[in-house]
Formats: sequence, C-alpha cells, structure tokens
Amino acid sequence: MAGGKPLPSRAPHASLGAMAHTLIIGAGITGAALAFQLAKRGERVTLISTHAEGGLASAASFGWLNASYFLSHPHYRLRREGLAAHHRLQATLSGLSTTWQGCLWYEATGAAQDETASDLAALGYKVERLTKPQIAARLPALGPLPETALFFPDEGHADPADLARALIKASGAQVIRATVEAVTEAQGRVTGVQTDIGPVHADRVVLAAGTATPGLLQPFGYTLPMLKRPGLMITTNALPRVCPVILATPDQEVRQDAEGHLHAPASAGHQSDSAETLGSFPVVVNATLQRLRALFPGQEIHFARQAMALRPVPEDGLPVAGPGTIPGLWMAVMHSGATLAPVVAELLAAEIIDGTESPLLGDFRPDRFA
Ligand SMILES: Cc1cc2nc3c(=O)[nH]c(=O)nc-3n(C[C@H](O)[C@H](O)[C@H](O)COP(=O)(O)OP(=O)(O)OC[C@H]3O[C@@H](n4cnc5c(N)ncnc54)[C@H](O)[C@@H]3O)c2cc1C
Repeated sequence: MAGGKPLPSRAPHASLGAMAHTLIIGAGITGAALAFQLAKRGERVTLISTHAEGGLASAASFGWLNASYFLSHPHYRLRREGLAAHHRLQATLSGLSTTWQGCLWYEATGAAQDETASDLAALGYKVERLTKPQIAARLPALGPLPETALFFPDEGHADPADLARALIKASGAQVIRATVEAVTEAQGRVTGVQTDIGPVHADRVVLAAGTATPGLLQPFGYTLPMLKRPGLMITTNALPRVCPVILATPDQEVRQDAEGHLHAPASAGHQSDSAETLGSFPVVVNATLQRLRALFPGQEIHFARQAMALRPVPEDGLPVAGPGTIPGLWMAVMHSGATLAPVVAELLAAEIIDGTESPLLGDFRPDRFA
C-alpha cells in the first residue's frame, strides 16, 4: 500500500492562465481523450509517448463498452456516463468506428442471471430477457443455445487505439516520441519532464502512462498499487457474419468486426479475470480457438494474430483520476479504459482548467491509497 506524503483530495493547483502548457505522458486512449478535451477548451497540449499513438493496453483491448459490469454504484454511474461520453464524441467527430450492436450475455445462468437482470433494471439500465427461440433468431450460427440470456441494447464497441489516434489528430496536439525518465520539479511545483532525448518544460504534467504510471510517481513519495493482470486477445480469420452482437458466454467473450474477424479475449469473463500469468501461449491460443469452434460449429476458425498487454488495473479495480502530490502533477490510470477514458477525460479536463470537481470522480481519487 501507499506510503509517504498524503495526496491532496482537491484540485488546489488549477489557477494557471488559459494558455498553460500541459504535457500528457502516454498516447493511449486515456492520454488521447484528455488531449482532445483540453485542446477543445483552448489549452496547449503536448503528448509524450514511448509507443506509437494508440497506446499499449489500448492496442490489445477487447473494447467492449458497457456498464453491465461494475464494482460499486459510483463505478456503475461513471460507466453509464462513459457510454454517454462516447455518444458525445461521435456527435462531435465524424468517422469514428464506434458501434452500438448490443451485448448478448449469459455469463451467469439461472437465478444468478435473473438477479443480474433485476439489479440492472432497478438501476435503470436497459435489459431485455431473451428465450431460447429469441436467442436462436438473433444468433442463428450459435451452436449451443442457452435456455435464456440477457440483451443489453445500449452496449457497443470501440477500438481504443483507433479512437486514440482520431482524438489526437482532432486535438492538434504535438506528439513527441520519447520515454519519460522523470517528472521534474522546482520549488515544489512541476516544471516538466526529463526524457531520453532531453528535457521538456511544461506548466502541468498529466501521467496517463498506464502500467508505467506508478514508477513515475514513486519519486514523489506516492505508491500507486497496481494488480498484475496480463491480457491476451486472439483474432481469427475472416468468417461469414456469425456474431452480430458482443457475445458473453460463461467461458468465452467474442465479437466480430466489419471484415468478419472474430476477436476473443483468451480468458473468460476477462473484465474480472484475476490471473497473474497467461500460461503457455500455444495452449491458451488453442483452448480459445476450441471454444470459438464450439460456439460456431461448422465454421473454419483459425488463428490470425494475437495482441498481449498488461492491463492497467489499480489495486481495488477502480480508476484513479485527479491531482498528484505536488502542484502541476495529475494522473489518470484505469482499467475498462475503453469504456471510461472519454468521460474521465471530460471531467478531468474541467477540473484541471478551472478547478471544477465532479462528484462522478469523487470515489476515484488518488488519495484513497495515501
Ligand atoms: C486484453 C485486454 C482487454 C481489454 N478489454 C476491455 C474491454 O472490453 N472494455 C474496456 O473498457 N476496457 C478493456 N481493456 C482495458 C483498456 O483497454 C485499458 O484500460 C485502456 O486501454 C488503458 O489505456 P491507457 O491509455 O491508460 O494505457 P495504454 O494504452 O497502456 O497507454 C499507455 C501509454 O503510456 C506510454 N508510456 C508508458 N510509459 C511511458 C514513459 N515512461 N514515457 C513515455 N510514454 C510512456 C505508452 O507508450 C503508451 O502510449 C482491456 C485491456 C486489455 C489488455
């Protein structure tokens, strides 16, 4: 757990002029969404990233946009607003590839499925209960048909790496390809960063570096505890249209892209997966392909490619967004960043620029670990 200086819970350092220069470390969906929101409000923004625009976890993501999975009611509310923030982005920027095909879900069955339906409906979430014939009608290619399933019509998909590239382009932010070695400070205030190609000066630094964020925070006496959660995505050859929804079964999640490729996390229930290792690569890949072949019998399903990344999961599974230990330092680290980054970016940008704190972020402050 954390040690050292306690973090401020408020935003006491948001009083710079309108053209303050903000450096964002990380060009995944989190940094990109924040660059877009800050630039939209007239801020001068520069991104620094080791990896190409599109990030690391963002480039290996399943990209399921949902609020049916949540760890607490504040987490649910943030995820709900996350879906709305994706719609706002689509209304603002043309040509985004975000889709709203809905999710057909039977990760839980029987009484547990009923309970999920009732809980979500009580929260006002759209849930349809489907019978076996209704499931067959929606997914004619599905081999083993469950007795019942839930359909979440408001859920969808975004490719976080594609979205990040679109947001960076729209932001007009400069992108520097470099590795940040340290955040620099003078007289108790952030002055910029030291990179492998030299120093970069700024009025503010936002750490959106995913799993690398804790290392950059450590010199400031703050430990951000993270879980070790490797994630592996398998992509298959292109198939005829077999999966028009995001499908979540007890042992496999899968979606199909516009070209027909299936995309499947190697672990079941990947959002709550707690494995710290992936296992032998050929074994894991083959097991995933076997499950996909069982779901869609008669289809020629083969391995096409894989993407692997450590998912940035803070110790309690919840996002971390807010001010750091000294004026000018901010952070945004999260799992479910495909769902959450756009809304966290909207809220954090308002807070960074004029100190407007949103109650939606109240439960996700860095000082909960201090
Ligand atoms: C297999 C898998 C499945 C997932 N499925 C879903 C899902 O279905 N739904 C969902 O909502 N979320 C999902 N996620 C989570 C989501 O993808 C992540 O939360 C999100 O992509 C995190 O984005 P990020 O920008 O914070 O981090 P990243 O994409 O990891 O980007 C970090 C950036 O920081 C840069 N960086 C790091 N260190 C430095 C340094 N020292 N100097 C300069 N740059 C640095 C990197 O180069 C990179 O650009 C999944 C993730 C994985 C891996």
